[in-house]
Amino acid sequence: MMQRNEVPGTLYVVATPIGNLDDIGARAAATLASASVVAAEDTRHTRKLLDHLALGKETVSLHEHNENRRAPALVARLLGGESIALVSDAGTPLVSDPGYRLVALAREAGVPVSPIPGPCALVAALSACGISAARFVFEGFLPAAAGARRGALSALAAETRTLVFYESPHRIAAAVADMAVVFGAERRAALCRELTKRHESIHADALGELVGWLNGDANRRRGEFVVVVAGAEAVDAGCRPEWIEAVRELGASMPPKQAARLIAKVTGASSQVLYRQARDAGA
Ligand code: SAM
Repeated sequence: MMQRNEVPGTLYVVATPIGNLDDIGARAAATLASASVVAAEDTRHTRKLLDHLALGKETVSLHEHNENRRAPALVARLLGGESIALVSDAGTPLVSDPGYRLVALAREAGVPVSPIPGPCALVAALSACGISAARFVFEGFLPAAAGARRGALSALAAETRTLVFYESPHRIAAAVADMAVVFGAERRAALCRELTKRHESIHADALGELVGWLNGDANRRRGEFVVVVAGAEAVDAGCRPEWIEAVRELGASMPPKQAARLIAKVTGASSQVLYRQARDAGA
């Protein structure tokens, strides 16, 4: 169903491209065109997008250092009936980007807040890197200091869901080296670089191999990164003996791996661990 693009007095949270300007969605473009004002993280950066769309729009800056101060005036404009499009430099506002305080304040004031969804680097990376996106944890940027970074990684070492990080070119090699130490060199990960841009690359391998790969060529460390790391295998202690027994019994009438997958589905345990334990128990 077609929907009106602009309802007066609404705060629109508009996703913008993460590199390729042609990724701007039709609703995003229409919303930017009809909004009274565009609240942008960096007005000069957003001007390039508005020029690309041939829109001469009023912009106001809204970034992490002025958001607390600016948000009340923007909410007053919304309450006065103007509509505002909130954008960040790239991708979806609020995702490792400013906007949370404005959205929260607008909602508290009873202002309608409506998302115009579109590009987001973490979703783009998960969609194409070949590591399960069924259950994942988004951690944003790791701490810059080595000690704090290792501490943050250690707290995630047993996490069984897929892990997603944002990383800068200056720290990518050190961060992946720390991941190999803390998560283990065998753990699989994907380095998703410059997505949607000319030098886009997605390189997946064991963490230990990725350390060498990054250090082998400075060009591989350039640009913006999403790092996707496979979750830890569920610990063996999580498998109850009766589940292992069920896999063994079912395994008598179907391929053992299929039996393990079935029991994993109903118990939530890892099918690989169930399979291995059932196999070892039968040895
Ligand atoms: N709001 C954005 C989003 O929706 O993805 C993220 C903003 S955050 C300040 C910027 C970080 O996102 C970059 O340092 C990088 O880790 C990641 N990123 C943004 N664009 C990217 C791209 N084209 N390829 C890979 N990573 C990207």
